[in-house]
Amino acid sequence: MTVFNQENLLFTPASPKADAIPTIFAFPNEYTVGITSLGYQLVWATLALRSDVDVSRLFTDIHEPLPRSPELLGFSFSWELDYVNILNLLEFLEIPLHSNQRYNEHPLVFGGGPVLTANPEPFAAFFDVILLGDGEELLDNFIDGYKAIITADRQTQLRHLSKIPGVYIPSLYEVTYHSFDGEIKSIEPIDHEVPNIIKKQTYRGNILSASTVVTEKAAWENIYMVEVVRSCPEMCRFCLASYLTLPFRTASLEGSLIPAIEKGLTVTNRIGLLGASVTQHPEFETLLDYLSQSKYEDVRVSIASVRTNTVTEKLAKTLANRGTRSITIAVESGSDKLRKIINKKLINEEIIQAAINAKAGGLKAIKFYGMAGIPGEEDSDIEETIMILESIKKATPGLRLTFGCSTFVPKSHTPFQWFGVNNEAKKRLKYLEKQLGKRGIDFRPESYNWSVIQALISRGDRRLSKLLELTRYYGDTLGSYKRAFKELKGQLPPLDFYVYNNWKLDQLLPWNHLQGPLPQETLIKHLDESMSNI
Ligand code: SF4
Repeated sequence: MTVFNQENLLFTPASPKADAIPTIFAFPNEYTVGITSLGYQLVWATLALRSDVDVSRLFTDIHEPLPRSPELLGFSFSWELDYVNILNLLEFLEIPLHSNQRYNEHPLVFGGGPVLTANPEPFAAFFDVILLGDGEELLDNFIDGYKAIITADRQTQLRHLSKIPGVYIPSLYEVTYHSFDGEIKSIEPIDHEVPNIIKKQTYRGNILSASTVVTEKAAWENIYMVEVVRSCPEMCRFCLASYLTLPFRTASLEGSLIPAIEKGLTVTNRIGLLGASVTQHPEFETLLDYLSQSKYEDVRVSIASVRTNTVTEKLAKTLANRGTRSITIAVESGSDKLRKIINKKLINEEIIQAAINAKAGGLKAIKFYGMAGIPGEEDSDIEETIMILESIKKATPGLRLTFGCSTFVPKSHTPFQWFGVNNEAKKRLKYLEKQLGKRGIDFRPESYNWSVIQALISRGDRRLSKLLELTRYYGDTLGSYKRAFKELKGQLPPLDFYVYNNWKLDQLLPWNHLQGPLPQETLIKHLDESMSNI
């Protein structure tokens, strides 16, 4: 029995017609990881529901029978370092790595997903087509657009596709630089027929997504995922999950959430409620009441994210009764000043109260999540984080307390995109480790070096593709990246330029031609508001 036979499908794939487009849809990681991605599941199901597409799935470890001459090859790209696997899979399929080395006989290589929607530029050389934004309408528009010019030559196809909103054809844009290792000078379409700006697509319906497949082989075994909200209205100034996906949308309770959950419960008893700020759904209480019914006694519910001031005793009780032992809350810092800077509307008393409520509701553990190196941070802010964790520990004896901490990483399309990584963060993570250890608080820092690599990719431009190809052979350590920078010295800016430098507001950004939900002027206004708190 193959893993594909062990899947419970929640849709009926169409039977491909004789002239259906031979397509491969890949996830650049193992099956267990890929099949746990709701985005991958949805795109695959959208393609499989079309009788004019004959789609086969490809993962790094297994695949369905593949077409000999695919016309389309898609990648769902969710984690930056999976680019290595994208390149490996292209080689496995004997497809040139660079779009400019592909000809009519090669498939069109397209990609979508969070990494490409945030900043596709470091990967631009590897893709013929990039789909920006929500997939709901975009994917069908892309396939329909392709069908309209299916027999044309590659250049005609690409030019035609570039006119579809949200479809970005990197090869049709020319980027120039002030010098090989200098700032970007211009990003222009190659001629007037190609749009100047590509707008990320936003789906505005109130029926959000839910799993199309449930399997025990998923990383979250037998989980049925339901998207409760999309984006987050809080707009913390560093937050990609909010700024890149605005506006905040909520699934209709009667029209989307309940029917989806009931469908999922026909094949599993594990429900995962997904979204950047699930508890901010306006009818979240009603959803909780619905899940609290005695007929759902054996249903296990996990929740992706909880906003601090929504952790009531009732929420904790419902989750505890439905098999959840622990919740995770992002507080970012114990300093009121820093939370003002990042626009996190939360005060220390609310954080302590959330922990008290979690314990009173029967949860066994709570994990707080924070960041070091937030713009404007001083050593005294770190002391405040230590102090509040200490107060929580005292106020909730017996509740297991963990503090996870990452380093601030600038993200495109957010007001903090112009800030570099604060190199004090490394020292501050070490300090937190020592101080929290002394107080018996479990500290889980995220690797500082990994944050540096993330920042590099996050603010990278097209010149990084060469570097990424080199590091593919050297490994994904910071040392490998540094070695590659050394080898390519003079051909691109140094690591510091991408990672640590604060960028000028009038500097041309690598994603200047890709329009996110908010205009640059609004981002600058939000940045100014933040800075007025320093
Ligand atoms: S509350 Fe969380 S998801 Fe929402 S904007 Fe802030 S960090 Fe992002």
